[in-house]
Amino acid sequence: MAEKRDYYEVLGVGKDASDGELKKAFRSLARKYHPDKNPDDSDSEHMFKEVQEAYAVLSNPDQRRQYDMFGHDSPGGSPFGPSGFQGVNINLDDLFSGGFESIFSGMFGGGGRTNRGRRGSDVLLRHTITLEEIYNEAEIEISANLSAACGTCNGTGAKTANDIQTCSTCGGEGRVVRQARVGPFVQQMVSDCPDCNGQGKTIRNPCSDCRGSGSEKREQKLRMSIPQGAEDGLRLRQRGKGEYILNGQPGDLYIQLEVEPHAWFERDGPDLIMALPLGYPEMMLGTQVELPHIDGKPLIIDVPAGAKPSETLVIRGRGMPRRRGRGQGDVTILLKLHVPEKIDKSMRSTLKDMLPSFGLPPNDVEDAVRREAEDRRN
Ligand SMILES: [Zn+2]
Ligand SMILES: [Zn+2]
Repeated sequence: MAEKRDYYEVLGVGKDASDGELKKAFRSLARKYHPDKNPDDSDSEHMFKEVQEAYAVLSNPDQRRQYDMFGHDSPGGSPFGPSGFQGVNINLDDLFSGGFESIFSGMFGGGGRTNRGRRGSDVLLRHTITLEEIYNEAEIEISANLSAACGTCNGTGAKTANDIQTCSTCGGEGRVVRQARVGPFVQQMVSDCPDCNGQGKTIRNPCSDCRGSGSEKREQKLRMSIPQGAEDGLRLRQRGKGEYILNGQPGDLYIQLEVEPHAWFERDGPDLIMALPLGYPEMMLGTQVELPHIDGKPLIIDVPAGAKPSETLVIRGRGMPRRRGRGQGDVTILLKLHVPEKIDKSMRSTLKDMLPSFGLPPNDVEDAVRREAEDRRN
């Protein structure tokens, strides 16, 4: 067998040739020796293959570095596997358009090792929380039965460290290379090792506590801060606290906040809304009502004299915190008329006494209806 020629010599470029120079040299030589242009010429065929091989190696930075250091005697043998370079099918047209580049870039198993990365499942937990807690606590602590590395085997899944062995099928690489012949060409296919599921390791004696899975459920305490203005359904993420997985990345844990309905407040973003039932005398005379509030200080509602049902009062800045520390929302109070379900005899006679002063005179009804409509429409 003839001595293998130097790749730079084959392409007719210097050792410091740039990528562009390599490409240009390859393109012109490949066109010159392309089989379509030189039918039944075994010398051209040989040159065409030689040029391809030189370009395949020199256009790949890793392979070029190796070649610069070791020449053709690279440790580990030919980068193209035991059968050496087999040539690739390049269209003459591709040599003009540049479509050949993808063929070469995929030649060495996709240009380096890509770790597909096993990852554990994400876990979703629901955490019930009160409005008061959202308002007052910066942090919550939850404890839950969560997946973690098995304490007995430290998450390795093996009984002892000696039980972890390098997979003999793939030699610990986790990947196997198959060579498939497609017509006159040999294609290299890289896939996960079937014997170790791409992990590169096998376990001789599995840990008896986790049965080789490397994970166990354990009661764990987690602290997390509640963002300002947190609302029902908000998901807080704890990276890596999800499902533990052998030889992989653990999943994430999501805590979904479920806000318990408050005894009287409804929530509209940072604003709190409530209804206040008052009797007729209180509306007429005005009153002051005091209620316990989520901020720990009493909420004092001043109802002015002559207040009407369905009117609203607003107390500024006593609602929930707004997002990103921009103050607080308001408390809106809707006034409602409280009508007792039952009245006794003495109350009935008191009300009858009140009729002449507070009731509507019968001949004023139409006027009153008209005035109400005008007010309502303004
Ligand atoms: Zn394997
Ligand atoms: Zn274990």
